[in-house]
Amino acid sequence: MTKHYDVIVAGAGSMGMAAGYYLARQGVKVLLIDAFNPPHDQGSHFGETRIIRHAYGEGREYVPLALRSQELWNELEKKSHLKIFSQVGAMGFGPKGNAPFIDEAIASGKEYNLNVEQLTGEEMRERFPGLQVPDDYNAFFEPDSGFLFSENAIQSYKELAVHHGAELSFNNPVTDIEAYEDSVKVVTANGEFTSDKLILSAGSWNGMLTEKIGLNLPLYPTRQPVAWFEANEELFNTKAFPVFMVEVPQGDTRAIYYGFPTFDGCGVKVGRHDYEDHIDPNTVDREFGSNENDEGHIREFLDQFMPEASGALKKGVICMYTRTPDGHFIIDKHPVHPHISIAATCSGHGYKFASVIGEILSQLALTGETDHDISIFKLDRPSLKNLVK
Ligand SMILES: Cc1cc2nc3c(=O)[nH]c(=O)nc-3n(C[C@H](O)[C@H](O)[C@H](O)COP(=O)(O)OP(=O)(O)OC[C@H]3O[C@@H](n4cnc5c(N)ncnc54)[C@H](O)[C@@H]3O)c2cc1C
Repeated sequence: MTKHYDVIVAGAGSMGMAAGYYLARQGVKVLLIDAFNPPHDQGSHFGETRIIRHAYGEGREYVPLALRSQELWNELEKKSHLKIFSQVGAMGFGPKGNAPFIDEAIASGKEYNLNVEQLTGEEMRERFPGLQVPDDYNAFFEPDSGFLFSENAIQSYKELAVHHGAELSFNNPVTDIEAYEDSVKVVTANGEFTSDKLILSAGSWNGMLTEKIGLNLPLYPTRQPVAWFEANEELFNTKAFPVFMVEVPQGDTRAIYYGFPTFDGCGVKVGRHDYEDHIDPNTVDREFGSNENDEGHIREFLDQFMPEASGALKKGVICMYTRTPDGHFIIDKHPVHPHISIAATCSGHGYKFASVIGEILSQLALTGETDHDISIFKLDRPSLKNLVK
């Protein structure tokens, strides 16, 4: 007999696992389905760490969500036996007058009265002697931010969800979804399940699953190299150096690099945030170094701005971002089947919000509404006009 649930979560990675926990803890009968066994190294959440910033270069609308996320991560850390958050601080810098990401982060900090210091290039060099920042750069430092242990957090949500009665069906890809007036049937490799509500949170595979329910969304999975380098441990350890976002002029446009300090000898971790290499998540080339730019771009950045962190390559991995045309997430109810909620929320900066997005998805599934302002993530926003079919 087909088993029936209050809510099924299809895709139990960063966002889905959090949603599963927030539902289960309210006594909801929830099934979490995943193609792998999260946390795993196939989607968008692996590589140990993710930056959490409160002042937000992608738009000040994100600040209240970042602050609520931080509260939820801190709450998760109290309940978990694993380390979730490391408060090393976050900084950003870019050329004065030509770094809109840095300017917006500083402006968002002022608007929300965050603990954000604005610094010059010279002040940055004094504060962080590992840095080579030109004098005419503009910079900020926020001591309350830092990084999350992304795989630990998913593991913690999983254990807590199960503790509260959630059922798991892992290593079991969803292959089809049938939407009815007030229920859904979810077909998987290992059988069928039905539920009153469905949350779709399949990361880079969201496009394939939303097609099954009649939606063609503008989602573009991309291949993302990230690498760890031997560094001067004194200058770049977590007590001396924060996480960073750096805007670098590049012809008429700008590149953005991000990274983390070294801890437990792991080396400095760096990636290029604006790297565009569209792929199919089922066939993505996962070999780091198969493209010379995988290491090349990052190495150029390190040589220019952090030469003492440009040591031997320790490790490189290939992860995936899913971009939307405007860089903002998609979090909404299905326009025809409102009992289905969708979180297609990468664009490469979604992890820090996974806790609050889990809360939002649980609220949408239970009441059809959420306490949070998600207007910039709606499917009918002007920038997606004619792109959602
Ligand atoms: C290299 C890299 C660095 C990043 N750095 C940061 C950062 O510093 N800060 C930050 O905030 N964000 C960062 N991000 C972005 C962030 O990690 C993602 O936005 C976030 O992990 C996306 O979460 P998700 O739940 O959408 O996807 P995932 O965590 O990948 O979860 C999707 C889940 O769906 C499952 N799934 C897929 N298809 C199916 C199917 N058919 N049936 C069942 N299950 C399925 C997958 O197995 C997976 O477990 C980074 C991303 C990458 C790749």
